[in-house]
Amino acid sequence: MRKPLVAGNWKLNGSTEMVSALLSGISQRLSTSRNAEVAVCPPFIYLEQARQQLEGGEIALGAQDCSDQQAGAYTGEVSAEMIREFGCRYIIVGHSERRHIYMESDAMVATKFDRVRESRMMPILCVGETLEEREEGRTQAVISRQLDAVLDRSGTAGFRDAVIAYEPVWAIGTGKTATPDQAQQVHAFIRGKLAGLDEEIAARIRILYGGSVKPENARSLLQENDIDGGLIGGAALKAEDFAAIVAAGG
Ligand code: PEP
Repeated sequence: MRKPLVAGNWKLNGSTEMVSALLSGISQRLSTSRNAEVAVCPPFIYLEQARQQLEGGEIALGAQDCSDQQAGAYTGEVSAEMIREFGCRYIIVGHSERRHIYMESDAMVATKFDRVRESRMMPILCVGETLEEREEGRTQAVISRQLDAVLDRSGTAGFRDAVIAYEPVWAIGTGKTATPDQAQQVHAFIRGKLAGLDEEIAARIRILYGGSVKPENARSLLQENDIDGGLIGGAALKAEDFAAIVAAGG
């Protein structure tokens, strides 16, 4: 049985005051009988503050990205190994905003995925198609290409301690959500592709859905067979909404 994961991606939002208020708001609202694991991914600069505030509790910490490099003359970069020092369990790699705004290639995302694993944390690998790609019937081809880049570098075993997030680009921050059926179809495709390589890994891996998940649509999405939780953007910035989405995870 896969334990659902609901992870909040805070993106470029926060201040010391906001981090403190949002974390306490979430902690107060989480039900003790919840089924889902919960994680938050604040900007790098607030990881230490969040680590201190979450210490001893049940909310896991994650980062939103890491460098593809380990160390050296790479101004502005933050390595996976540095992130590990701040108690992170997860690092998001290949978010569509990184792929599309910062032009990260499949190969770069695959290198980052590997760096996270080398540093003994779990990558949350984001994959997903644009609206144009969906309309051209290329959803599966795009997702296969994004997964293949990681498989080529890390092998199937690379997915043993990893999470995948299916995030259709057209649904991120747009208010448009994939229907539960549309999402389930892609999730089943991803799991099926991995099952062709290793059935045990495919059965174990958590595949999250992301894209305008809100308290109102969370339950119908999260009850699909192959949807094992959510990667939440906008709604993760409101303690009440985020806690309601976690509750929808069972
Ligand atoms: C995201 O950025 O990962 C995301 C899913 O954002 P939103 O929930 O705002 O669509």
